Amino acid sequence: MKMKHKIICKACFAYGEKDIRVEQRELEYSEDDVLVKVEAGGICGSDIHYYQHGRAGMSVLKHPMVVGHEFVGVIEKAPQGSGLDVGQHVAINPSQPCNQCTWCLEGKQNLCSTMRFMGSAQYNPHVNGGFSEYVVVSVEQCIPYTGVTPQVMAFAEPTAVAIHAVNIAGTLVGKKVLVIGAGPIGCLIMAAARCAGASEIIAADVSNRCLDLSKEMGASGVFNPAEEGSSKSYEANNGYFDVVFEVSGSPAAIQSTVTLTRPAGTIVQVGMGATTVEYPVMPMLVKEIRWVGSFRFINEFATAVAWLEDGRIDPLPLLSAEFKPENIEDALISAADKTRSSKVQITF
Ligand SMILES: [Zn+2]
Ligand SMILES: [Zn+2]
Repeated sequence: MKMKHKIICKACFAYGEKDIRVEQRELEYSEDDVLVKVEAGGICGSDIHYYQHGRAGMSVLKHPMVVGHEFVGVIEKAPQGSGLDVGQHVAINPSQPCNQCTWCLEGKQNLCSTMRFMGSAQYNPHVNGGFSEYVVVSVEQCIPYTGVTPQVMAFAEPTAVAIHAVNIAGTLVGKKVLVIGAGPIGCLIMAAARCAGASEIIAADVSNRCLDLSKEMGASGVFNPAEEGSSKSYEANNGYFDVVFEVSGSPAAIQSTVTLTRPAGTIVQVGMGATTVEYPVMPMLVKEIRWVGSFRFINEFATAVAWLEDGRIDPLPLLSAEFKPENIEDALISAADKTRSSKVQITF
C-alpha cells in the first residue's frame, strides 16, 4: 500500500467561456510521483481558446480544468533512485502517451489514442495543466536543465512542436523554406529550420511587428501577404519554396501555399483553426506536392530542451509580457492581442 501525501495550492482553472478562476486545489501524490514547484509557464493558443470560447478546436471544456501546458519548475520531492534531485530545475513534458496502443508502439506517441496531455480537454476527464503553484508529474516527464532561466526553458514545449514540424518536413539542408504565420510557433520553426540547415528562410505574416520578430528569430527575408504583389517573385516559375510551413491556419494562407511551393515540394500544415478550406487540388496534384500534417511532438521535447539549454535557440525576443497567476485573466487578454503580444508568461 503506497502512502498518499496531500498538498493544497493555488491554480488557474478554466470553467468555460470568459470564466477563469484562481482557486485552491488539493493535490495528491505518492512516493512514485514527482512534486514540482512551478516557476514559469507560457500561454499558448489553446489556453486562449479555452478562455475565449470554452473550447480549443475539437476539445470542449466539460468540467473545470487547470490550464497551461508550457511550464517549468523546481523539484520539491522525487522518488528514491529516480535520478532526480530536490532543487533541480526541470522542463516538464506535458504529454503522457499510453505507450501501449498501436500508434505508441509504432513510435508515434503524439498520435496516441488515449493521450493524456496536460492542460487539454481532448479527452474526458480532462487532464489538469501546469498553471498551478505545484504539479504532480511522472519521472519520465521531467527533463533537468541548467544554465538558462525558467523564462527561456518555458519555451521547451512550443520549441518541441517546431522541431517536430521540421522533422515531418524531412531534411532541410540547403533547402528554401517559407514559414507562413510568424507567431511564437512560426518563429520557433524559423529558428529550428536554421539549426537544421535551411539555406533560405522567408517569413510571411500580415503583422509587420511579427515580421520584425521573424528577422530576430532566423528569417533571412520577409513579406506581408496583405501587400499587393508581395509574394509575386516566389510564385514565378511554378513556385519557389522546397518546403512551406503553414502555421497561420488561415484559409487564404492555406490556399496560397500551393502556388508558392515548387513542384515536388512539401507543405507542412501546423496552423490550426480552419477545419474546412477550399484547396487547389489540381495544381497540387500536377505539381506532385506533398501536403502533410504536424501535430504536437514526440521525442523532440528532449531536443528542444537541449537546443534551448545550449543557446542554439534564443526564444526571448518572443517574450512580450509576464504576469502573476492572480492576474491570469489579464494575461490571457494580453496574450490574445496579437497587435502587441507574441508569448505571454505566468511567473510564480
Ligand atoms: Zn503550446
Ligand atoms: Zn498510446
